[in-house]
Amino acid sequence: MTELIEKLEKQSCLTRDEYVALIGGRTPELGELLFEKARCIRRKYYGNDVYIRGLIEFTSYCKNDCLYCGLRRSNRNAERYRLTKDEILSCCKNGYELGFRTFVLQGGEDPYFTCERLVDIIKAIKSEYPDCALTLSVGEKSFEEYKAYYDAGADRYLLRHETADEGHYSLLHPEEMSAENRKRCLRDLKSIGFQVGCGFMVGSPWQTVENLADDMLFIKELQPQMVGIGPFIPQHDTPFGDKKAGTLELTLFMLGLIRLTLPSVLLPATTALGTIDPRGRELGILSGANVVMPNLSPREVRDKYLLYDNKICTGDEAAECRNCMQMRMKSIGYDVVVSRGDHTNTEYRKRNENDLRS
Ligand code: SAM
Repeated sequence: MTELIEKLEKQSCLTRDEYVALIGGRTPELGELLFEKARCIRRKYYGNDVYIRGLIEFTSYCKNDCLYCGLRRSNRNAERYRLTKDEILSCCKNGYELGFRTFVLQGGEDPYFTCERLVDIIKAIKSEYPDCALTLSVGEKSFEEYKAYYDAGADRYLLRHETADEGHYSLLHPEEMSAENRKRCLRDLKSIGFQVGCGFMVGSPWQTVENLADDMLFIKELQPQMVGIGPFIPQHDTPFGDKKAGTLELTLFMLGLIRLTLPSVLLPATTALGTIDPRGRELGILSGANVVMPNLSPREVRDKYLLYDNKICTGDEAAECRNCMQMRMKSIGYDVVVSRGDHTNTEYRKRNENDLRS
């Protein structure tokens, strides 16, 4: 099996059968070899730098009904909130002072935030913080809406594909949602010029090793600039409340595989990883990740954005999260840097430089 890791290191791709064999046949020793190679590759592109993104969870309303998610519309026990434009801008101000140069606006699919309202917020953030990157993560929209966000100044878009397999996708989502539309969105976003992030949950109900291999092939084909993965964690008020969580071990292994498959990808060690293990994010970085996303949302709303149970950091102020992350990264020999933290592809830098000049 070590030869498969060496092949992946050299060619940045395996066949479906090879991914299946490697994921299905993984051992702690293979994991160590994989992580060593993953660290080596990330060092080549990013040194020991860890990029931080300030996450602003601006609405917990959602019109969708994904079976795994605590924000699903059928969850009557979820407390709903939405931040005002001023509240969002004040999160950015706080974040800017703390050294964040990327803001991530994430939320449920909330019809209140029409294209017009979102464009207005994007323009306000980009005009106050022209040296910052703005990432959106607001779900499935039309080509025209994505284009309007991009023209207003948004730089990046996160939309996990969740699972590349249609059959598996339909077990996790209501009938009106499809893997095909999710993939259409990702291709639209890419063609518009966004730095795009796809991704999936590890250990979601009924996920097979073959599904994970297909996820790797989809990622390879899409060539996203970012990939967000984290363990599935049950939320007690959803239909998957009694399902088993994904494991730390498999999530780390998948992070390592992604680093070897897309060597220069921006790869976060996610909050979900920190939730299933107190050292999850540090271990994520040591497995090839190079991004962390501390929370900038106001403390009053943090415990209302509950995608899954036992989410960490719900009682902390932004400054505490920022400092805590710095210490955690330092403890493993990595440095949190004050930077937009763009993908290495220079085209994206050019757009930023032109924006700053004009
Ligand atoms: N509405 C936007 C979207 O659909 O992309 C962004 C918000 S959505 C809540 C962000 C991500 O949270 C999803 O893509 C999903 O992978 C993850 N998520 C939701 N429920 C989860 C759970 N129970 N365990 C782990 N991750 C979960």
